[in-house]
Amino acid sequence: MKTVQVNIVTPDGPVYDSEVAMVIAKTVSGEIGVLPGHIPLVAPLDISAIKIKEADGSNNVVAVSGGFIEVRPEKISILAPAAEVAETIDIARAKAAKKRAEERLQSKSDDIDFKRAELALKRAINRINVHEGNI
Ligand code: ATP
Repeated sequence: MKTVQVNIVTPDGPVYDSEVAMVIAKTVSGEIGVLPGHIPLVAPLDISAIKIKEADGSNNVVAVSGGFIEVRPEKISILAPAAEVAETIDIARAKAAKKRAEERLQSKSDDIDFKRAELALKRAINRINVHEGNI
């Protein structure tokens, strides 16, 4: 079976590195499925789940907080500000972050940075969905 190397890297270090059969990523302009030998492309990613089909048929999911995907025929590189493999997600932390962001968004205070709170909420919901396999 043909495989392609996938690397997911954040400023804190590598999060995922494997030879895989397929990657599905959500770019800001839509979902893409990438197989080995794909034509080169670079695209910005949504706060979303990266779905990976391993060479042995098993599936893996990684939460990414945006970033970029760079596809080359033999290698896929994902550079993200933060990324977590599903099993490593601290669900209590993500739920607390969701609650905090929701409270901020409901606040009437002028001091609230709504865009920032919306992004924090999106990251938290994404982590919860990835952890729960709800993707
Ligand atoms: P929080 O408010 O809980 O810090 P956040 O969305 O602001 O959430 P980020 O700034 O995106 O957090 O991430 C900071 C670091 O913490 C990154 O290394 C990220 O992978 C990690 N991280 C954030 N939330 C979780 C989580 N629920 N489980 C595991 N790692 C997490």
